[in-house]
Amino acid sequence: MTATQQTIDLFDKYVIGNYTRLPRVIVKGQGCYFWDADGNKILDMFPGWGVSAIGHCHQRVVEALRKQAGQLIHMDNTFYCDPQGKLAGLLSTRAFGGKCFFCNSGAEANEAALKLARLHTPQKKYKFITAEGSFHGRTFATLTATAQPKYHKGIMPLLPGFIYVPFNDTQSLEAAMSDEVAAVMLEPIQGEGGINVADEKYLQHARHLCDENKALLIFDEVQTGIGRTGKWFAYQHSDVVPDIITMAKSLGGGTAIGAMMAKNEVAGSLTPGTHASTFGGNSLACAAAIAVIEAIDEENLLENAAEIGEYARQKLTELTGKHSVIKNVRGIGLMTGIQLSVNGADIVSKALEAGLRINCTNETVLRFMPPMIATKNQIAEAVEILDGVLTEMQK
Ligand code: PLP
Repeated sequence: MTATQQTIDLFDKYVIGNYTRLPRVIVKGQGCYFWDADGNKILDMFPGWGVSAIGHCHQRVVEALRKQAGQLIHMDNTFYCDPQGKLAGLLSTRAFGGKCFFCNSGAEANEAALKLARLHTPQKKYKFITAEGSFHGRTFATLTATAQPKYHKGIMPLLPGFIYVPFNDTQSLEAAMSDEVAAVMLEPIQGEGGINVADEKYLQHARHLCDENKALLIFDEVQTGIGRTGKWFAYQHSDVVPDIITMAKSLGGGTAIGAMMAKNEVAGSLTPGTHASTFGGNSLACAAAIAVIEAIDEENLLENAAEIGEYARQKLTELTGKHSVIKNVRGIGLMTGIQLSVNGADIVSKALEAGLRINCTNETVLRFMPPMIATKNQIAEAVEILDGVLTEMQK
């Protein structure tokens, strides 16, 4: 029996089968590539489901983890520790100057944001507005916030107080708004929903409606944040400043960390006893996140993300004329969606066989989210593999 089969058998026997896994055991990652146990090298244009945004095992992250692990891995939030304070400062100065709460995942960051919104606003303001096609996580509150019925099946009843409106539709948002709304939660670019970019006017109107009704505006930047769009946060492509942003995925360079940042006047409502996380802000994950931010700064990765992202969309758009299954290519920075007229699962599997990892979301949208360190050559190689796969499938 091969080593790969032995690992798969272990999973079959002992790991709950709540993921659809491809039959490969991944043993190593470096930069834009990963390797499986059978020695295959894969070009990764969807690293770690959006987590490894500065590439796999970035040297700075590896070194920061080694150093911190030898000093202090974890100390609870009864005390202060340097990495957490330093990370909060780095994030604050790259966003709107708010204060941070640290946790371990995107869902937890959003959970904290929703709780803070209720804590900050008067009791009668208990409702949340979220957008159809959104994805905010899998805990009960964030799953309820996720306005996609396919994720709700079998889990009902969900939490009360959530209102869903069509994305990018200002009139529906206005109609749903009332003095009972605590917050509007939106992704500036819907990721799992299919790389749907919010119009600037829509975001401006959301800001205006929230101000008028004393509701908070929360932007879920779990997928868009920490440079993926060519700016630290996707909201910075507009003139709209939210009251709260949440982040996770790219933040820790592969370690588990999430964060919620709130404007100073809002952050104060999260008082001792109202919320907590045992692992939140642990020194190891914070040291990794600091290394991620320093790498982005010192290696000019924001600029690279913007430039490479444009280049990728240009190369992918060239495929539109060649392959009729491609309807359009859209996105910002390194978040690109390729809208297909067919289900994309087969294309993803065949691309993997050919040495390229991409993803398909919402059945018909291929997601192309290269790491920020990718070169034009690697993008061109990826597009060439995809081109070959689509050509082969047309035969
Ligand atoms: N919010 C957004 C926009 C996401 O894309 C995701 C995950 O894909 C989440 C929240 C949930 O994050 P996590 O899986 O870390 O809980």
